[in-house]
Amino acid sequence: MRENDFLSWLSGTVPAHPAVPVGIGDDMAVVRLGAGEALLKIDQCMDRVHVDLRKHTPRDIGVKAVNRCLSDCAAMACRPVSLMISLALPRDGDETLAREVFAGCQAAAAVFNCPIVGGDTGIWDQRLVVTVAALGEMPKGRPPVCRSGARPGDALIVSGELGGSLLWRQGHHMTFVPRIELAQALASKVALHAMMDLSDGLAMDLPRLCAASKVGAMVAGPQLPISPAAERLAARDHLPAGLHALMDGEDYELLFAVAESDLPTLFPAPGAEPFGVRLTRIGTVSEEQNLVLLDANDQQHPWPQGGYEHQ
Ligand SMILES: [Mg+2]
Repeated sequence: MRENDFLSWLSGTVPAHPAVPVGIGDDMAVVRLGAGEALLKIDQCMDRVHVDLRKHTPRDIGVKAVNRCLSDCAAMACRPVSLMISLALPRDGDETLAREVFAGCQAAAAVFNCPIVGGDTGIWDQRLVVTVAALGEMPKGRPPVCRSGARPGDALIVSGELGGSLLWRQGHHMTFVPRIELAQALASKVALHAMMDLSDGLAMDLPRLCAASKVGAMVAGPQLPISPAAERLAARDHLPAGLHALMDGEDYELLFAVAESDLPTLFPAPGAEPFGVRLTRIGTVSEEQNLVLLDANDQQHPWPQGGYEHQ
């Protein structure tokens, strides 16, 4: 089975509920409470799917499991309030494994002063699974940033650099820091119409944002911020580095849409980084609901199919 097929079946199956302004299909769900709103997320990190115990230390796996979940908090521009951790532990592992995974979870959560408040453990005959659930809240007066608010004419922007995340044993996919602070800073300075974190690669993730917003996009291939790791990978496998930037996945960078009028705040001068992180305008939101990739000569190419699907 394919994860995406199940997810689209699911979003069409679960009915709307008056207490759930944002349900299945965004980076986090938004649930109405008496006093306001809570944001919720749950994320699995599975041995041999998202991580590999033969290559990664249990501690690093704990770090990644938490950071994957916190990256979705960044995607909504919310503040993580607490985490719960569920461990499915292999019967043949020792207690050190569990302790080390948890120590990694704690270290990653501590970076954002986010308490771990509970969870569950089970022992079974299968491989390690670390499941992390996050509770988040928005700063007062600020709405959650969903995938669904992009408007025709908006500029599309990504943080950091894309591609090559899986290249090294200790690659970016193990060592990234979720863009929580950047998201908060952006939300305080500009009107973020739509935002998501890039987990499966721009090729797969941008169509999700466009579908949620019922818009299309034109992306300038030569503008893509290509990571040095993607360049090295391209030199090795002779595929264009830009293709790696589109397809590799696990970038955990932010993709967002803002009005043109907010661009001077993001790009006050050439080379300036007012938010302390490289930001790159990669394209423009279009009314027509399809995605187009432009080359250096402004020739249009169909959007590349695929991206990174965890198997
Ligand atoms: Mg996400």
